[in-house]
Amino acid sequence: MDKHYNLIGVGIGPFNLSLAAILDKTKDVNYKFFEQKKSFNWHAEIMFSDSDMQTSYLKDLVTPVDPTSEYSFLNYLVQTGLFHIFMNTGRTVVTRREFEMYCQWCTEKLAHRLSFDRPVNSVDFDGKKFIVTSGSDQFTADNICIGTGLIPRIPECAVDLISPNFFHAKSPYLSELKAEGKNIVIIGGGQTGVEIFRNAFNGKWGNPKSVKLVTGRTALQPLDESPFTNEFFTPNYVDDFFPMNQDKKTPLVKSQKLASDGNTPSYLDELYKELYQIKFVEQRSQQIEILPSRRLNKVQEYAGRYMMVFENHFNDGFDELDADIVILCTGFSNAIPSILDPIKNKIQFDSEERFTFNKNFSVKWDGPAENRIFALNFSRHSHGISEPQTSLMAWRSAVIANELSSEKLYLKTKPVPNFMNFNL
Ligand SMILES: Cc1cc2nc3c(=O)[nH]c(=O)nc-3n(C[C@H](O)[C@H](O)[C@H](O)COP(=O)(O)OP(=O)(O)OC[C@H]3O[C@@H](n4cnc5c(N)ncnc54)[C@H](O)[C@@H]3O)c2cc1C
Repeated sequence: MDKHYNLIGVGIGPFNLSLAAILDKTKDVNYKFFEQKKSFNWHAEIMFSDSDMQTSYLKDLVTPVDPTSEYSFLNYLVQTGLFHIFMNTGRTVVTRREFEMYCQWCTEKLAHRLSFDRPVNSVDFDGKKFIVTSGSDQFTADNICIGTGLIPRIPECAVDLISPNFFHAKSPYLSELKAEGKNIVIIGGGQTGVEIFRNAFNGKWGNPKSVKLVTGRTALQPLDESPFTNEFFTPNYVDDFFPMNQDKKTPLVKSQKLASDGNTPSYLDELYKELYQIKFVEQRSQQIEILPSRRLNKVQEYAGRYMMVFENHFNDGFDELDADIVILCTGFSNAIPSILDPIKNKIQFDSEERFTFNKNFSVKWDGPAENRIFALNFSRHSHGISEPQTSLMAWRSAVIANELSSEKLYLKTKPVPNFMNFNL
């Protein structure tokens, strides 16, 4: 055994990085976070020059619970000399690339707490402590925090076709794409779908003959970031949501989809104007189409082309499309990481094979109460729509830090009540 910690975090995406930054002020928690990648990057495969954050830069790794932290975005701006120029931009959100740069800056400052190029292969439990194996090394921990992210969701009928010309957007195939003179179909109308659509017809991967965006949505639909909807992304709302019955929670989260998965409204405005310019001013010959209300039903490969059948929910018919290149922007889903296999039989899952959660983001399991398995980005079904977003990540980190440390440094000021009151 090489080393024992109070907490080992698996994965260094923004969520565990936030926890690492928040824990830095505690004196009684000895912790280390492991990441398989060589250095921090943030969904690099699908980051474009026009990709903006969908959340305010004030909802960074730490500020919502500790604006005095040295890991705040504002401190990043000050320390890198960018503050005044940045303010002149008038931005309320930053590009995803700049958020990544800020996170990279934090990883350098937290280097003593983080270990990159360190894949975790398994997590076991010996009755008193977790045993975390990475290659030929083993580490032990009183608690673990799983922050391994989501996995690409691929429609079942497409699973066997994955290849350089038929792939999920979050894959290395995208950067190698050669689309000159080709017919591209993009499936999925979320933000990733529209960003790939726009970059594709603007020639990022060569000039395609045609670019079609097919989506199950009834239109390209804006993110609902209006103030009352944004109350879903508050600690008070999580307090109200958590104790509800699961059969109420599931449809409620579904109905809130556009609060989380809609398109950035300003992006849609720009896209619409650009399509007008291309079609009626430039009069490009390229075929650019948006095909809403359609769901992929069947796909077959024939002589290097992909023949697809879509259910058309607008006219209850079926539409056939074929393409040289198909890019799936079909989102992401949770999967329990296989590294937990050795202790899986001790963990409590619900009927849909999801973790069951305590309110403090620890998973229910049959081990000792003092050994906790925290899991981030796995509890949308139990904590609500905010869980996969950055909005409450600092608050969630503070909840966990207070659980781990006797100092209880955070959340001393309770937020004022929301305007929307669900429980009298
Ligand atoms: C394209 C895109 C844009 C988004 N934009 C926004 C936004 O603007 N605003 C917002 O609020 N939310 C946004 N989100 C949602 C959410 O904030 C992100 O998905 C965020 O990255 C989630 O962070 P995470 O730490 O859970 O996972 P990830 O960022 O996916 O990080 C997980 C990390 O775990 C590592 N890992 C996995 N398994 C192991 C292992 N066994 N050993 C070691 N390391 C491992 C992975 O390599 C990865 O680095 C976006 C999501 C996507 C996909």
